[in-house]
Amino acid sequence: MVNVEYDSVEKRYGETIAVEDINLSVADGEFAILLGPSGCGKTTTLRCLAGLTEPTSGTITLGDYDVTDVHPKNRNAAMVFQNFALYPHMNVRENIGYPLKVAGVDGDVRAERVQEVAEMLEIPELLDRDIDNLSGGQQQRVALGRAIIRRPSVFLMDEPLANLDAKLKMSMRSRIKVLQRELGITTLYVTHDQEEAMSLGDKLIVMDQGHIQQIGSPDEVYHEPENRFVAGFIGSPSMNFIDVTIDDSGTVRSTDAVDGLEYRLESGVADRYSDHDEFILGIRPQYFSVHTEPMDNAIRGQVKVTEPQGDDQIVDVLVGDEDGSHVELTVKAPSTVEAVRTEEIWLTVDDTLVHGFDAQSGSRID
Ligand code: ATP
Repeated sequence: MVNVEYDSVEKRYGETIAVEDINLSVADGEFAILLGPSGCGKTTTLRCLAGLTEPTSGTITLGDYDVTDVHPKNRNAAMVFQNFALYPHMNVRENIGYPLKVAGVDGDVRAERVQEVAEMLEIPELLDRDIDNLSGGQQQRVALGRAIIRRPSVFLMDEPLANLDAKLKMSMRSRIKVLQRELGITTLYVTHDQEEAMSLGDKLIVMDQGHIQQIGSPDEVYHEPENRFVAGFIGSPSMNFIDVTIDDSGTVRSTDAVDGLEYRLESGVADRYSDHDEFILGIRPQYFSVHTEPMDNAIRGQVKVTEPQGDDQIVDVLVGDEDGSHVELTVKAPSTVEAVRTEEIWLTVDDTLVHGFDAQSGSRID
């Protein structure tokens, strides 16, 4: 069993707290993603496990061993970096085989294993090529090959797809996913790209400002975000947040008295918020329906900009008075809906899908 445990891990650089109170379990064979905005502490968390960064306090366990003070070389963790970090003076075969050479593995066995790994990554025809003559995607496959060849206990990847173009990123993404499943190696993977995280991970660890905000499956962090940060970070375009009050009839109104922004919550969800005079209403862009005629219990707005996206369109809607109190909402609607700039539209909401967040703490209100 090669599970990973972080227990109260903290890393400080002088006054700067890079990460704090990191408590985390990754099961044997699990694909875990450290996700969050730039500077939130993802890389520091990963480097502490690799042994490249020494925690200020706390412990890290790999399998049955406390590795907190173990030299990186003795942790049996393989790391893949964003910039691939290949040896430029060696060809592909030598790069992939290098970890085995260092470990003193016999030449014949090494050649066999290199061939095996190259076939797994579908690059056997590249084995005698120089690194400089490879595309970014090919270099990344060589980097993966070098990481998996010595069958590490844990696989660590720091934004491995960041330097690849969009199309290559997609194909490498599925390759990494399949490879991880086939090898069954416990994996921690850093990215700031929530779409990449959702498509790859069994478990997402959402971080902000040095702290873990939520740990859960892709579905959990999307559908049951624990707080406003997670709700806003996961999903594209981002969730809309509106500061509201609620009355006894279950009608929510913008606290800024935005003209047109009131909505009666009808599906019984209003009860959740009855203890809150003011809270933050969170609505994902696709949970609105757009109407071009006035309707009962609809939010009246004006189309500012429409961005076609093939089958869908993203519509920026101004509610209220542009020169006074107003809110801008992002709405995702089928492209068949006519959303003409400057014209009025009416929005209804599937209120079984809305979320409420505490105005002070940002925690989700159940
Ligand atoms: P990015 O996505 O930009 O790489 P990250 O989420 O991986 O960011 P970290 O690199 O872990 O974040 O950095 C977390 C915090 O710790 C940041 O505020 C960063 O400036 C700080 N930090 C990281 N390494 C050092 C260092 N060697 N010295 C001082 N501060 C550091």
